[in-house]
Amino acid sequence: MPPKRRGTSTAKAAPAAKKSRPSTDAESAAAAEPETVETSEPTAAQQPASATTAKPKPAPKKKAAASRWTIPSCSANIANEYKRLLTDGKEDPFVFALMCDAPFSNGDSDDEWEDEDHDDEEDEEDEDEDEGDNKKDKNQEDGDKPKCDGGKKCYCTQLYDDHPEHPYVMTRAAKSMFVDLRSHCEVRDPDNFRMYTFNDHSAYGALQVLENLILDYEEADSWQERWAVCEAMGSFLKTDYVLTSIDDGFQAMAIWKLMGRLFLSQLAEFERDGLLTKDGPVKNLGFIMAVWMTIPSDMRPYGILDDSSIESLGPAKDKKKWTPHSFDEQILAYARKYDIDLKGPHNLDDVIQEVEGEGEADLPKPESNTEKADVFGYKKDLTKYKQKHGGGTSFMSTFGRGSQRAPKSVIGGDSLDITSWTSAERKKAAFNKKDPLSAKELQMIREGCVMSQG
Ligand SMILES: [Zn+2]
Repeated sequence: MPPKRRGTSTAKAAPAAKKSRPSTDAESAAAAEPETVETSEPTAAQQPASATTAKPKPAPKKKAAASRWTIPSCSANIANEYKRLLTDGKEDPFVFALMCDAPFSNGDSDDEWEDEDHDDEEDEEDEDEDEGDNKKDKNQEDGDKPKCDGGKKCYCTQLYDDHPEHPYVMTRAAKSMFVDLRSHCEVRDPDNFRMYTFNDHSAYGALQVLENLILDYEEADSWQERWAVCEAMGSFLKTDYVLTSIDDGFQAMAIWKLMGRLFLSQLAEFERDGLLTKDGPVKNLGFIMAVWMTIPSDMRPYGILDDSSIESLGPAKDKKKWTPHSFDEQILAYARKYDIDLKGPHNLDDVIQEVEGEGEADLPKPESNTEKADVFGYKKDLTKYKQKHGGGTSFMSTFGRGSQRAPKSVIGGDSLDITSWTSAERKKAAFNKKDPLSAKELQMIREGCVMSQG
């Protein structure tokens, strides 16, 4: 059975999307997900409910894929589907769409999970009824906002302009990409294939997914595409997929700081181009900036984003300083400078108070903020990251299957995507020494389908 198509609840259904869990539990929590892996049509697996009015056909076999992918692999298929969403001309991928709730666990997780269970029961009842129309009243919450019904009548089918006051807004592209990230993680988790490879496979898998996002950002053709990466990445960083521990803490610390620089360099680009404004074309600045702003405080209890050296912000002659681990300070400073109303994350007020306690943060001088100046040192740090950690996730995959190490400069890719492995490699690691993928599933992957948990 394909996963339920419920636009906003995807992240809540993610393995243990609860920050309160110690990180050591995250892997076992992921393992507690259903073990069956099913193949489904690309559309059903990836499209959030609100973006499914048109159904793209399965990907053609020979579709060109970015060179970082193995053909065939689910990662390549997911990337192709996303590319199709951007280019098929059926719907504007960059329209700002609403979600009833944040796409990550946001607040009292116990209540949320109870609500989630309740919703599921209601959905099943609805499905049992012919039309479910007589349930309409039940789906109406107090006040104007309808209760989330997975996109039937709720905000998940509506656009920013319908309710500009509602905080949870993402572009269609970002919503789709966010859902894709879950699929990318699932095919990088040997538990889903009844296999044992090495202890940190799924954790390094999530790291590889983040590296791919960084490459997506690098390869994007427009600010809209770059912003979609920022939207999806920020939300993804607030799920437990990325909290699993890896034994190379230095790499983990490095990539989190790099991602902070990525986001700030996007804000610097917006500032340069006059897009960092309250009523400009980027309708969800308040939500996405708030999401990113809460990330450092989310991560500090795990020893990530808790320290870095002081750096020049922009050219040294400007005498501006910052510390890359506390990028929340620069985000708040930008929000204040451009009067952007931060909203969304449940702990935002506490974080703002905490950041304000640090005093006023520097921002780059607008006249120094050129593309070449790379004021937040993102490009420089990306080069450094590639030099230092390139090939790392590919190297880890050799523990599971004995393949060759990738070139040193390579980051991302699909070496930890188990569907990219040969049948012999999978058999070797499978509990029962048989390929966990059936001939039919392999054929479907060759035809462009993706895998997802049922
Ligand atoms: Zn909804």
